[in-house]
Amino acid sequence: MRQGLPADLIARILGGAPKYTIAELEEKFPPRNLKEGAFVTRFAPSPTGFMHLGGLYGALIDCKLARQTDGVFMLRIEDTDTKREVESAVDIIVSSMHRFGLGYNNDDAYGPYYQSQRRDIYHSVAAHLMATGRAYPCFLTATDMEKIRENQKAAGFATGIYGEFARDRDLTDDEIAARLDAGEKPSVRLYSEGNPERRIFCKDAVRGSIGFPENNEDVVLIKSNDGLPTYHFAHLCDDHFMRTTHVVRGEEWLPSFPLHTALFRMMEWMPPMYIHTSTIDKIDAETGKQRKLSKRKDPEANVEYFLRDGWPVQAVLEYLGNIAASGYEEAKAKGQVKSIWDYEMRPKKIPMSGALFDMKKLEWWSKEFIATLAVDDLVAYVVAWADEFGGDTEKMQVADTDYLRAVLAIERDNPKRIRKDFVTWRQTLETVAFFWDALYVVNGEFEYNKDILREFLNVYDPADDKDAWWAKMVAIAEKFGVKNGDVAMNLRVALSGRTNTPDLYSIISVMGADRVRGRIGGILK
Ligand code: GLU
Repeated sequence: MRQGLPADLIARILGGAPKYTIAELEEKFPPRNLKEGAFVTRFAPSPTGFMHLGGLYGALIDCKLARQTDGVFMLRIEDTDTKREVESAVDIIVSSMHRFGLGYNNDDAYGPYYQSQRRDIYHSVAAHLMATGRAYPCFLTATDMEKIRENQKAAGFATGIYGEFARDRDLTDDEIAARLDAGEKPSVRLYSEGNPERRIFCKDAVRGSIGFPENNEDVVLIKSNDGLPTYHFAHLCDDHFMRTTHVVRGEEWLPSFPLHTALFRMMEWMPPMYIHTSTIDKIDAETGKQRKLSKRKDPEANVEYFLRDGWPVQAVLEYLGNIAASGYEEAKAKGQVKSIWDYEMRPKKIPMSGALFDMKKLEWWSKEFIATLAVDDLVAYVVAWADEFGGDTEKMQVADTDYLRAVLAIERDNPKRIRKDFVTWRQTLETVAFFWDALYVVNGEFEYNKDILREFLNVYDPADDKDAWWAKMVAIAEKFGVKNGDVAMNLRVALSGRTNTPDLYSIISVMGADRVRGRIGGILK
């Protein structure tokens, strides 16, 4: 500890007297009145204008852990980096949370939830630290720090502001006052008493207790340019006064773990339980190696991609949920649970590395999900997607909902044999595109047996039931000495342009007589 600073100097450093004492803050944000074992979690994104799939993964874990324990899940906007555009970026986060059904509960009593609006809290804690000799104003400029860095490098020392390199850590009150008089703007730094030769043990729910060298850096707590806190300091103040019990965050925060643990100890506050999650990886198509999803290279790193492309949000969540709680898929297959929300997620089992997101696997989750939908729900999802994200083609396809419904109802009536070829809303419309005349393309490669097609037109009666229709198909096959399947194939290709379709009789019924006659007639011309 250094000597504490007097209140008037602290007020000058912070640009105003602190609003609260620590005791007042403790009273303002009392421990929450929740049942034993309830988790208080928060998703704390920086508003970058981009919701990363890894962010969604973390938010799902936060939300799930809170929900399953009747706890509280908050959304906190970490907007202390004022260089970035905030409002629209927050909209992207809020709307993604909403769409994925990750409801949060930002109770006013523990807010505000924008860090930029919590300055009074940070300044009050910083003032307390300066008054008790655990923090100090530092007047180093960017140029000063660059010089220090270069010297450290040249001499083979670790870089950073620590020990003898922390020029201002022991300035006297007069020296501080003089610099303030000269108009210099300080940051507030931690007066670190850590020694890297000692170890500090930090507790992670998955990894257990991890030993690290103690932090000896006088890290910045409050920045000089805008008086806002650094992540480290904001995390300390916010997660304490929001009464967060569990911090779910990416493994990239592990190196800061000893610092954070030391900050909580210094305040004599109980640190939250940490769950450092794995990055979300993929197998690189070129190298075949597993690597982190890249914002730059991989469109699927952006949550927006799944919405635009029409992936069921439930499938994305189920799949991410299964990565975090790996027994889920099995429990679901056994019929023990219906959705990820019913399955208990165990913090200890959340993978600490190598979480792989494989689009093929997502396809499977998606097909399974769509196969569970009643036709009206399927129609509603497809229409909603097309209205929002579809182009002219998809909008045209959903314009006549009765026709769309009939098309999508094919092979959905037998619960044991629901078709599983629909993967996304977009791809669903593509798969059934041939039902619309404007999208139907004559298959020019197929060698039609025109006798068969002509004969079909002769005997075709739209009023035929399936048996009557099939009897006619068999009769045609006999007449021309071909297999039943050949007759069906000729019809199938003529009507759909494809060699592979769901049930042919259903297609004929849904298309209706005009289309059937028109398409076959077109080929016979
Ligand atoms: N704003 C930090 C991030 O986006 C939050 C980390 C945390 O959850 O504590 O990585």
